[in-house]
Amino acid sequence: MKNNSPFQLALFGHPVAHSQSPAIHQSYASQFNLYINYHLVDVQNHELEHHIKNFFNNNGKGANITVPHKFAAAQYLDTLSEAAQQSGSVNTIVKKQDQLVGYNTDGIGLVTDLHHRIQFDITGKTLLIFGAGGAVAGIMPAILEHKPDCIYVCNRTLSKAKALSDKYDHTQALTPHTLNTIIKPCDLIINATTLGHHGKAPEIPKTLVNNTTIAYDLSYGTITKPFGKSAYNSGIQHIHDGIGMLYYQAAYAFKLWFGKSPQIDLPSLNNQ
Ligand code: NAP
Repeated sequence: MKNNSPFQLALFGHPVAHSQSPAIHQSYASQFNLYINYHLVDVQNHELEHHIKNFFNNNGKGANITVPHKFAAAQYLDTLSEAAQQSGSVNTIVKKQDQLVGYNTDGIGLVTDLHHRIQFDITGKTLLIFGAGGAVAGIMPAILEHKPDCIYVCNRTLSKAKALSDKYDHTQALTPHTLNTIIKPCDLIINATTLGHHGKAPEIPKTLVNNTTIAYDLSYGTITKPFGKSAYNSGIQHIHDGIGMLYYQAAYAFKLWFGKSPQIDLPSLNNQ
């Protein structure tokens, strides 16, 4: 039996029109016969606090936060989970009694996808991450929990990469101009930039690649094409997009809202 009035869920971001989250959460909800309404709210930075508070004051059950508001949202909440506090970045909000609590499920979503779908074990490995925005802040604690040997964070704006390397051990900040200081191939190369939205991708030097190197784009869909091409041109044979991470982070958010773990049926094993 479905509830009479749907549970209200929302995604706050800019842009949000392309989001697959409504369909994913609908598929999770239907596994438990839950009736949900998942709204897409395209919102600018200065209106974010008002929209979040208004949503929860009007019977909102739970929310997701996406680009570019993951840092900003953390400031407007009453409490943060350990992962959200450590990263300063929030992708999921739950209302508990009268408190708005912020969580970050991106990191655990990525790590679950790496372990389950890609069968990549982070422990002892060398990682190169392009980007140092909200998504990278969110995934760093979960990645570091699995004790990689080293994480290189390469970002156009060095200060943002440095903010991460100052905060975490085993982490080194770079820009694309200093990538040549890495002297051995990387095991996992992650694209966490928004360059794909503009038809571009970071360039991967061939010296950073061997025949087991994996490329992983946090993005999914057609915007991953430039990174897929860049990875292929550098000699990488194993190239994945972030669709699995999307499904897993959504499943962890769903569990925070409803206390239930949905089964995950990935649309395809996307090895480009
Ligand atoms: P963000 O906070 O806006 O950060 C964007 C990053 O891209 C920054 O590091 C920025 O560098 C870099 N960048 C943007 N334009 C650039 C350019 N022209 N040249 C070089 N670097 C550029 O975004 P985010 O929240 O981190 O998200 C990043 C991507 O991950 C998005 O595509 C998002 O959809 C995806 N994501 C996917 C999932 C999933 O579940 N699969 C989850 C989270 C995020 P600067 O610092 O120099 O500006």
